[in-house]
Order: sequence, then structure tokens, then C-alpha cells
Amino acid sequence: MSIPISDHDNAGAPVSQQALANVRDRIAEAIHTSGRDDKAVELVAVSKTFTADAIIPVLEAGQRLFGENRVQEALGKWPELKQQYAGIKLHLIGALQSNKAGDAVGLFDVIETIDRPKIARAISTEMKRQGRDVELFVQVNTGAEPQKAGIMPEDTDQFVELCRNKIGLKIVGLMCIPPFDEEPSLHFALLSKLAERNRVEMLSMGMSSDFETAIAFGATHVRVGSAIFGQRTQRIV
Ligand SMILES: *Cc1c(COP(=O)(O)O)cnc(C)c1O
Repeated sequence: MSIPISDHDNAGAPVSQQALANVRDRIAEAIHTSGRDDKAVELVAVSKTFTADAIIPVLEAGQRLFGENRVQEALGKWPELKQQYAGIKLHLIGALQSNKAGDAVGLFDVIETIDRPKIARAISTEMKRQGRDVELFVQVNTGAEPQKAGIMPEDTDQFVELCRNKIGLKIVGLMCIPPFDEEPSLHFALLSKLAERNRVEMLSMGMSSDFETAIAFGATHVRVGSAIFGQRTQRIV
């Protein structure tokens, strides 16, 4: 007998809705374990590479915060979804080119990947031009990986200061993506320390494999993709 492959479980709910509920439970448990406030952590559901058809069940289950890593891809699906569902908040979590700053400011509510003066200036210009207020996080390359985006840890204080005082941007958070093969907690601790030192309130850290650890280290936003939507067929980080 063969088992039919289905994206619905026995009760008829899409697998992603079950997975979302499970992730929410695990977040609540991690918040509880670390003695933090019930509302201290927000779940950003990372829908990159998934189509609107795959995203709709997750919207139907009440999720409203989503993360995408490519402006162009996000433009292809989110304007329509935003018209269909009220209260969607979109986070840009991928590297940003300054020629996409206009599109990014127009579509996203939060940009987590400010990491160099040129992009900070381009975002500032676009926010003024469009009269839009986007929440901004600085991405820190906590592992100092040459191929990875983000400001180096030792340059973070100066960069946050430049963004705030010279460019006039309100930086509300820091974000990091720890090296794939390292213990993430060291990186989460470093990001948390940098945030405290710079009086930055929000911390975007933790993905499917380590969000509970990130919550223990003070994450206010966890970015969870595959644990909700399943494995991505395209390999995009
Ligand atoms: C893809 C991605 C995630 C989600 O990764 P999962 O392991 O699927 O949870 C989180 N953050 C960033 C920046 C990403 O690009």
C-alpha cells in the first residue's frame, strides 16, 4: 500500500498551519523558560521562495509578520496579498542594493539589513521622498565572515552613530545571521551586548534551527522559514 503524498494532515488543515502552531508553541515555551514577558518575541515567518498559494494558509492561520530576502521576489507576491489581508507587516531580511532602495521602502515595513553608509543614505532619501516611515535594523556580521553582509562588530558603534546623527535614521534594532557551523549562542550574546551598548531595543536573531536559543539570549524577533513552510527547494540564504 502506498501512502499518498499530501500537503494536508488528517484533520484537513494544511501542514504549514500545523507547523506554524507548533513553532508558536515552542516560542511560548522558550519565552516562559527564560522568564521573559509573554509578548517579548515576535515571529517573522520567512516565506522566501514560496508562492502566494503556500503563504495563504499561514495568513489564514492569523500570521501577519513575514520576512523576504529579495525585493524583486517580494514585489511579485506581496502587493496583492497585502490587498487581500489587513495588517500584514513585511520585513526585508536580505542584502539590499541601493538601486532597489525605492522599491524596498515602498513595499517593506521593516528593513533589517542596513549595513553600510551608502545604503543608509539611499534608504533615508527614499523615506523622505515617499513620506514613508520604515523601521530600521542594522545587520551585524558577528562572525566577521568575508562573504557575508553586515557591518563588522568592531565598527557597529560608529555605524549606528553615523546612521543616527549624520544621516538622521532611527535605528531600532540589530540583526545577525551566525556562521552556519558555529555555536550560535556566542553570536547572540555578542549582538545583545552591542544592542545594549548602543541603546538599541530590538534584536532579530534565531532561525528554524536555533530560535529557542536566541530567545534565551534576548531575541525580540525570530525569523523562521523552513520550520513553518518546509524545506526550500532553491538554496537561498
Ligand atoms: C532564510 C532566512 C531565514 C530563515 O531560515 P530557516 O532556517 O528556514 O528558518 C532567516 N533569516 C534570514 C536572513 C534568511 O535569509
